[in-house]
Amino acid sequence: MERLQKVIARAGIASRRKAEDLIKEGKVKVNGKVITELGVKVSPSDRVEVEEVQIEREEPVYFLFYKPRGVISTVKDEKGRKAVTDFFPDIKERIFPIGRLDYDTSGLLLLTNDGDFANLLMHPRSEIDKVYVAKTEGIPQREALRKLEKGIKLEDGKTAPAKVKMLSGDKKKQTAIIEIAIHEGRNRQVRRMFEAIGHPVSKLKRERYGFLTLGGLKAGEMRELTPHEVKQLR
Ligand code: URA
Repeated sequence: MERLQKVIARAGIASRRKAEDLIKEGKVKVNGKVITELGVKVSPSDRVEVEEVQIEREEPVYFLFYKPRGVISTVKDEKGRKAVTDFFPDIKERIFPIGRLDYDTSGLLLLTNDGDFANLLMHPRSEIDKVYVAKTEGIPQREALRKLEKGIKLEDGKTAPAKVKMLSGDKKKQTAIIEIAIHEGRNRQVRRMFEAIGHPVSKLKRERYGFLTLGGLKAGEMRELTPHEVKQLR
C-alpha cells in the first residue's frame, strides 16, 4: 500500500506537492470514487484516475547507463538517431533518462520510470555533484580555470561555483584534460563554460553522478541501481 500522492507523482504526472493539490481539488478518483483527503493509501490493484485519465501503475525501476557518444538522451528521436532507450529492448517499463547528456557526450546517465524520483534529482535544490572530464582545445591558464571555479557569466546567468582540476596538458597537441564538478544541469553547460574562457571542448564524458560512478561498465552497458543506492539518492 502506498500513499495516493506518491503513486501520482511516480507516474510522472505531477510533483508530490502538485499531486496533493490535485487530490484536494477533487480531480483524483480511486476505483471510480473521488478522493479529496490526503493520506489515503492504495494498493497496486486499485485503479487511479487523474482528471478522468487512468494512470499507469508500474513497478519502479532504476538503471545506471554508460551512454556512448552519438546517442540521443530521449526516449525516441524523430530524426531516427539512436536513442538511449534503444539500449534497453527487453525492459517493458516505460523508462526515460533523468536529465540529459548531449548527443556527443558520453558517460553516466540514470534512467527510470519513477517521475517523482527524477523530479527530486533534477531539482536545483538537490545540488548533486556531477563530475565531467573534458578535453579542451588549447591549454587553459590557471586564471581562466579560476573563472570557472568562481562562476562565469553565461547568457542564461552566472554559473554556481565549480570544482576544477587540470589532469594533464599536451603542449605539442595544444589540448588539455580537465576534470570539472558542477551541480547545476543547464543545457550544454560544461561546453558553454569552456567556450566562455576561449577553450572549446572537443570531448566530454560524465564520470560521476553524486556518489555513483561508471565502475567497470563499458560504453553501451547498464546495471540496475541497488535499493540502497536509490535510498541514498532520495
Ligand atoms: N554539460 C554539457 O555541456 N554537456 C553535457 O552533456 C552535460 C553537461
